Amino acid sequence: MESTEQVTKDFIREIIDEDNKTNKYNGRVHTRFPPEPNGYLHIGHAKSICLNFGIAEEYKGFCNLRFDDTNPAKEEQEYVQSIIDNVKWLGFDWEDRLFFASDYFPQMYEYALQLIKTGKAYVDDLPADQITEYRGNLTKPGKNSPFRDRSIEENLDLFQRMKAGEFADGQKVLRAKIDMSHPNLNMRDPVMYRILHASHHRSGDAWCIYPMYDWAHGLEDSLEGITHSICTLEFENHRPLYDWFLDALGVYHPQQIEFARLNLTYTVMSKRLLLQLVDGNFVCGWDDPRLPTISGMRRRGYSPSAIRLFCKRIGVAKFNSIVDFEFLEHNIREDLNKTAPRFMGVLRPLKIIIDNYPAGQTEELEAVNNPEDPGMGSRKIPFSQTLYIEQDDFMENPPKDYYRLAPGREVRLRYAYFIKCTDVIKKDGKPIELHCTYDPATKGGYAPDGRKVKSTIHWVSASHAIPAETRLYDRLFTIADPAGQKGADFKEFLNPHSLEALRDCRVEPAIATLNAFDRFQFERLGYFCVDPSTTKNALVLNRTVELRDSWAKHQKTAQKK
Ligand code: ATP
Ligand code: MG
Repeated sequence: MESTEQVTKDFIREIIDEDNKTNKYNGRVHTRFPPEPNGYLHIGHAKSICLNFGIAEEYKGFCNLRFDDTNPAKEEQEYVQSIIDNVKWLGFDWEDRLFFASDYFPQMYEYALQLIKTGKAYVDDLPADQITEYRGNLTKPGKNSPFRDRSIEENLDLFQRMKAGEFADGQKVLRAKIDMSHPNLNMRDPVMYRILHASHHRSGDAWCIYPMYDWAHGLEDSLEGITHSICTLEFENHRPLYDWFLDALGVYHPQQIEFARLNLTYTVMSKRLLLQLVDGNFVCGWDDPRLPTISGMRRRGYSPSAIRLFCKRIGVAKFNSIVDFEFLEHNIREDLNKTAPRFMGVLRPLKIIIDNYPAGQTEELEAVNNPEDPGMGSRKIPFSQTLYIEQDDFMENPPKDYYRLAPGREVRLRYAYFIKCTDVIKKDGKPIELHCTYDPATKGGYAPDGRKVKSTIHWVSASHAIPAETRLYDRLFTIADPAGQKGADFKEFLNPHSLEALRDCRVEPAIATLNAFDRFQFERLGYFCVDPSTTKNALVLNRTVELRDSWAKHQKTAQKK
């Protein structure tokens, strides 16, 4: 389904090849995508989804969808549903392998008891701030908690009472007993369980102790028989702990592999920051077309195949980098150019009357649906005496390099006729109506006498066109790295002009036959899609991206240099 262009094998696939050669997992390849349901997924997650599900597909293995729902405070059912919908929409299938980390709580508890019984975990009474203080830092070794040498019996008793709800939040924790002077801070007796009297979206009030990420994640991977546990680079120095827990328990041990997360210019990519934009009403919900969320991109008109192509082309590496938003848009255009049917629509209408065209007459003109794909056929568009064209396709006093309509000048109406402007009607100095004549001999847009015009403009028939609201989008932020500015709140860099709503557009009648989320091109204006808020009487369109490809242009200039 994707382009067949060759992409060199990345280091993760090389590791898998090697493991298959040595038969490390008996030739099995089993990955997982493990989102925490504390927000909607973004394009960075799409990279991880394409990687994990893509690898499973290529190696004829499996990929699980697993909700890492170990933190009751921030997790919601709405997020679970949105994630399920997004992964499906991207084109991936976990079959019957949908898992929830919270379903493993009883097993994780048993494992914790096992570590206590082997002297590898203890209950600590130090409050949180003292745990931090005792941990030391990169230059200063930590020191042992006074509770570190409790007997196994006492630890077992206290941990069971923690679970039974005898203690308040923060009163006690369970910690792994590793090494308080370990050069890796993560290994200085990390916390495994904390007390939290909070309801969980799945387990309800069954638990008041909740496992920490580092403790839980490796167990989840192990229980599911994952072979390659792929995560982002910030977990690299958590890997020794991942390994320590699994070795200490002596259970099946997957391999953690880290890769660089995707960063994009002119946006923010963390759920924590996206939540601020949503909660603060800086955007209209998680699926606002300006957000880099998968739901937002879907509503903006990005296609799953374009997002997959983008993820494939950015590749997978071991070092952090930032990808140009233009490159994402370049891939969106490339995909839509092949697949999107063409229509005509006028965003800022200017009325024109063809004086020599019979009043009351309508004719149907033939228009090509997609010049890139003859298989998409053609359609009829109605033409009549009164039309709308784009306001900026006319200038009363045009400068030298302006070739569109002007008094006395002839241009081509796309798929229709040559017209010439004969008169301009103005109100408050602004053109509000043009009078034109047409040349009946130029039907289809070509003159039999061979005369040429310098421009072709789009139009709609006034009485046939349907009104629409069109939303045009610009970058959400005014600077490339809004989250990376020291001492500044990223929201200071929000672009106040990121949304422009045009409420008086006129579009080709065929647009009424489209459904929510359908993608198409308005000739000369860009790619668009039908907003899901559209009703029978109110058509709302989103502009996905303009036609001009600034990324391709940059690449050409860069190559010349
Ligand atoms: P965020 O910081 O946006 O909340 P997260 O890493 O906390 O992201 P999770 O729900 O824990 O989000 O992520 C699920 C999976 O997606 C993880 O394996 C994570 O490494 C991966 N992931 C998250 N962000 C990116 C990114 N920008 N690029 C690539 N993979 C990512
Ligand atoms: Mg997270």
